[in-house]
Amino acid sequence: MSQAFKLYRLQQVDTQLDKAHTRLKEIEAALQEDAAQRKAEADLEASQNAHEEAQKLLKGAEQDVQAQQIKIEQNQARLYSGKVTNPKELQDLEQEAEALKRYLAELEEVQLEKMIAFEEATTQQEDAGQTLESVRADVASQNSALTTEQNSLEAETGRLQEERTAALDGVPAEDVALYESLREQRAGLAIVKVDNMICSACGTTLSQALAQAARSPNKLSRCSTCKRILYAG
Ligand SMILES: [Zn+2]
Repeated sequence: MSQAFKLYRLQQVDTQLDKAHTRLKEIEAALQEDAAQRKAEADLEASQNAHEEAQKLLKGAEQDVQAQQIKIEQNQARLYSGKVTNPKELQDLEQEAEALKRYLAELEEVQLEKMIAFEEATTQQEDAGQTLESVRADVASQNSALTTEQNSLEAETGRLQEERTAALDGVPAEDVALYESLREQRAGLAIVKVDNMICSACGTTLSQALAQAARSPNKLSRCSTCKRILYAG
């Protein structure tokens, strides 16, 4: 087994581990944060606030109407009490009654507007609640798929760690050190296959001498351009 082959095997395991770790991080982030659910929650909260505000306005309008009705009742009671006999005073009371009724009509108009606004706010709140419920159901089923994937990736990671330990067996410490430092510098890829005299990572065509050297079982050769270790296969 050539030195390069041992490192190449290690690289294959590490590449799978890297992939599993990347995916696990994605899953963790997705499980913690769901944009659609957060938006639905914010929408519901906004619609609840709007509903509460509409309710207050409606209540205010109802109280205004009631207060006006009381004023009219008081006016009418006085007008028909028989206690007021002075024609001028009676005429004033009648005029006041007219004015009070006109204003009541305006207040009732406002009350109707507030009633309609309140009903719309109620519908919007109900819709937002239903949307959140269905988003939550989606997220829950999505999360269950993610959790299943997470479990299987964790099991795979454990298995790959064992493979990695096996692959490291018999690899000289200095080769491991070179491999690890290249992994850090070269996006995780320290050793690559030579394919028709071409470095499969960077595409450089190797010289005859280098392609020959890459086949040596006892010595590591590196790409003249990307400096990765070469594995002739
Ligand atoms: Zn290269």
